[in-house]
Amino acid sequence: MERKRIAIIGGGPAGLIAADLLAPHCDVHLYELGKSVGRKFLVAGQGGFNLTNSAEGAELKQVYSPAGFLDEALSTFGPTQLRAWLQEMGIGTYVGTSGRVFPTRGIKPIEVLQAIRDRLDVRGVHFHLEHAFVGFDEQTRPIVESSTGRTSLEADFILFALGGASWPVTGSTGEWSSHFAAIGLDIVPFRPSNCGINVTWPPHFVAAHAGKALKNIRVTAGDRSVLGEATITEHGLEGNAIYPVVPVVRDALVQRQ
Ligand SMILES: Cc1cc2nc3c(=O)[nH]c(=O)nc-3n(C[C@H](O)[C@H](O)[C@H](O)COP(=O)(O)OP(=O)(O)OC[C@H]3O[C@@H](n4cnc5c(N)ncnc54)[C@H](O)[C@@H]3O)c2cc1C
Repeated sequence: MERKRIAIIGGGPAGLIAADLLAPHCDVHLYELGKSVGRKFLVAGQGGFNLTNSAEGAELKQVYSPAGFLDEALSTFGPTQLRAWLQEMGIGTYVGTSGRVFPTRGIKPIEVLQAIRDRLDVRGVHFHLEHAFVGFDEQTRPIVESSTGRTSLEADFILFALGGASWPVTGSTGEWSSHFAAIGLDIVPFRPSNCGINVTWPPHFVAAHAGKALKNIRVTAGDRSVLGEATITEHGLEGNAIYPVVPVVRDALVQRQ
């Protein structure tokens, strides 16, 4: 049977894992606007670098919003499957005290990315770096632009894995949403999630406390209550006790507007 041709646009974690899972069954071509894949993944690696979370079932699903939209995906391929997938590439993991899952001590983010890259090379994934998705042609085929010009992609299926809008310096600009709007698709605007919150601290408070850690705290917003830690920053609060309550805070702020 003839193998289907799949075009994946976007070389972040989502595009890379999709390429790996599809490559045994299809011809996979991955298009990425940057000179390399996984650049935001490497930025993430500069901090705590948790690869996933040990939570399962309802506990895991409730941290994603809007409610329900990822339930099926998380049931099919959750943290257990992700850890097994990494283990196949020789990347061991362990669960930290916060429940977050990290690579075995000593394994660096670049090594995790390289292991994924090596596996995709072995599986015959075709990489097209410095190829930017710039819109659709009149037959709604995606157009990619490279140093040699513009081409409409020919593929049996196209998977868009273009990331959010939170880290433009590594390619996650969110500009792609305008290309979908231009062909008449409804776009749900980007909204903040899993981020710090701004608090207008008095200047003397910032001078005295910015950079300090708050350990073993419980943060509650609406129906969500989280045990963890936070750091006081110049702009507000960051940390694993803050991020999960952001959707509740965000929605409350929107309602007040
Ligand atoms: C500072 C920081 C720390 C983080 N820490 C963690 C952590 O510890 N653990 C964790 O799980 N997550 C962490 N994250 C979040 C994590 O980085 C993202 O959830 C993840 O990168 C999302 O993967 P993605 O593939 O959906 O999108 P992205 O990683 O954004 O990848 C999208 C890709 O698409 C490409 N692209 C975009 N537009 C186009 C276009 N028009 N044409 C072609 N290609 C295009 C981009 O260049 C990019 O490579 C962190 C993020 C940041 C910013």
